[in-house]
Amino acid sequence: MSEKYDVIVIGSGPAGYVAAIRAAQLGLKTACIEKWQDSAGKGVNGGTCLNVGCIPSKALLDSSHKYHDAKDAMSGHGISTGTVTIDVPAMIKRKDKIVKQMSGGIAGLFKANKVSSLYGTGKLLAGRKVEFTALDGAVSELEADNVILASGSVPVAIPMAPVDNEVIVDSTGALEFDSVPERLGVIGAGVIGLELGSVWSRLGSKVVCLEAMDSFLAMMDQQIAKETKKILTKQGLDIRLSCRVTGTEVKGKEVVVTYTDVDGKEQTETFDKLIVCVGRRPFTEGLLSGDCGVNLDERGLIYVNDLCSTSAPGVWAIGDVVRGPMLAHKGSEEGVMVAERIAGQKPLLNYDIIPNVIYTHPEVASVGKTEEQLKADGEPYNVGVFPFVAIGRAVAADEADGMVKMLAHAETDRVLGCHIVGPSASDLVQSVAIAMEFGSSAEDIGMTVFGHPTFSEAVKEAALAVNGHAIHMPNRKRKK
Ligand code: FAD
Ligand code: AMP
Repeated sequence: MSEKYDVIVIGSGPAGYVAAIRAAQLGLKTACIEKWQDSAGKGVNGGTCLNVGCIPSKALLDSSHKYHDAKDAMSGHGISTGTVTIDVPAMIKRKDKIVKQMSGGIAGLFKANKVSSLYGTGKLLAGRKVEFTALDGAVSELEADNVILASGSVPVAIPMAPVDNEVIVDSTGALEFDSVPERLGVIGAGVIGLELGSVWSRLGSKVVCLEAMDSFLAMMDQQIAKETKKILTKQGLDIRLSCRVTGTEVKGKEVVVTYTDVDGKEQTETFDKLIVCVGRRPFTEGLLSGDCGVNLDERGLIYVNDLCSTSAPGVWAIGDVVRGPMLAHKGSEEGVMVAERIAGQKPLLNYDIIPNVIYTHPEVASVGKTEEQLKADGEPYNVGVFPFVAIGRAVAADEADGMVKMLAHAETDRVLGCHIVGPSASDLVQSVAIAMEFGSSAEDIGMTVFGHPTFSEAVKEAALAVNGHAIHMPNRKRKK
């Protein structure tokens, strides 16, 4: 007899573990299958996000930021630190401890919520049956009324830069360097490339980012993207657009990278380490039996509708393995939606309001439509931009780079998007996301009382600027 559950979740990344916890909260008998193992071969939860993604990258970003502050920024405050050094193995050990703490936390949450945590590989069979291969190789069959697929994503590999985990690494390897490479190449100036490039640049690497596209952060509002590029370049990141990598040759401890530059000329550059960060692809290897009824789309994503139902009845899919931005919180919200739908509730997920953050310093954050998207949609809009240099708190904190840009409908004044490069952008954009969820106008935000002095005053001023009412700068257009 196979063990029967109400819900089986395959994958315990931020999509899967949240779905499992919510399902169990709703009284459903739930199991979550996870194949990830730590270096000692022990099963661990948390997926990419906790083990090799969001959390470890932020741990290293914070360590490297503190190092940079102590070395270069504190003297301006009259603080002398003497010689500042970095112990890379100690920094990596701290990061590993944080990862262990966070993934252990999920095991605790599973226990508290009575989710059965099964370590091993799950394969969906026909009829909502799941073949489970435990870490010790034992195979059993489980069944469920509903199966949620949350198998996530893995880094895209490119044949011209094969990862050897010595000189050429992917985003996972870039979290494990044992010393600061003198010359660091990054293929792909996207979100992950910029974050990892920033870590090692702050610690002293000379970083070159080679980006195939001719526009920087093409999916972002281009005014904010331009400002971001200016700030990151000032910090020492050498970002080269229209540069497509065509080949690599590892020679001992270094790698020679060949690329075509903006003029189509062939160039070479030699690095001590090369990080390949050209995107992520959905992971479904070994997940689906031929007759399980789940279809993939042309990009290899599991095909789902707006409610995350797959083409097989009772089978759902969430997170990086389905369409939409590859972001931890997007998958988590899908997990909640699906668990609640299984329990008979009728929640919907607002895909138009999903914040997106790049954790460089300063941070870059956005929610809603960009100016380019509004133009393409033919939507009439007003724009308000406010620079942090006119915000007292930002000047006092030496964090005056960047700006807030707010976009609102020209007729209704409803906020359609907000894009920020500047201090605490990740948290500031969240306040606008809440306002947008409630259908707020720019005037509503402008009328809200903001504490002083705070970075958030830039949000209020940008909202006021939408209608020409900003107080702490001259307005481009004035309205009464
Ligand atoms: P995953 O986290 O990939 O988890 C899927 C899990 O399923 C894995 O544990 C895998 O082992 C397991 N699995 C797969 N197949 C099977 C199977 N057949 N049986 C059992 N288990 C299986 N996103 C953000 O929102 N903010 C950030 O700051 C951020 N930073 C990032 C930094 C880096 C360096 C990277 C690489 C990613 C970052 N991301 C960030 C992206 C984020 O990590 C992903 O969007 C998120 O982890 C996706 O969640 P998921 O649950 O869909 O999949
Ligand atoms: P993201 O999708 O945010 O992870 O960013 C990945 C980036 O890598 C994109 O901006 C791509 O344009 C870029 N990219 C992909 N292939 C290459 C290549 N061969 N050379 C340089 N950049 C690349």
